[in-house]
Amino acid sequence: MPEKSNCLFCRIAQKDIPAALIYESDDIVAFKDINPQAPTHILIIPRKHIATMNDILPEDAALIGRMTLVAKELAAQEGIAQKGYRLVFNCNQDAGQAVFHIHLHLLGGRAFAWPPG
Ligand code: 5GP
Ligand code: ZN
Repeated sequence: MPEKSNCLFCRIAQKDIPAALIYESDDIVAFKDINPQAPTHILIIPRKHIATMNDILPEDAALIGRMTLVAKELAAQEGIAQKGYRLVFNCNQDAGQAVFHIHLHLLGGRAFAWPPG
């Protein structure tokens, strides 16, 4: 598990590593996924380093809630709110989590299969 100083998404939030930033607040950053899986593919992250969804605490509840509100706003901004979109947190290996700093995927602009692969 990478330490905070060595974490890719902490470094993007701190602007040590460039990304196509779409939204910033005191506690949340959103940016375009480098390898988009849909016409809209945005990652919404907390500035706080939390490795996986297994690590969220009761005190993080409002933060996680605000991440979903940012997703809603960005979906409207991207013009995908009415047709629809998918929000995903991948946790650990069975879900294919590759970056161990929690991130909410906002995917839209095409139809998605269900159940997911
Ligand atoms: P996960 O599989 O962990 O849920 O998703 C990680 C996501 O981060 C992937 O969709 C991947 O394309 C994206 N990603 C990985 N490295 C970078 C990067 O350096 N910059 C950006 N913008 N996205 C990244
Ligand atoms: Zn981090």
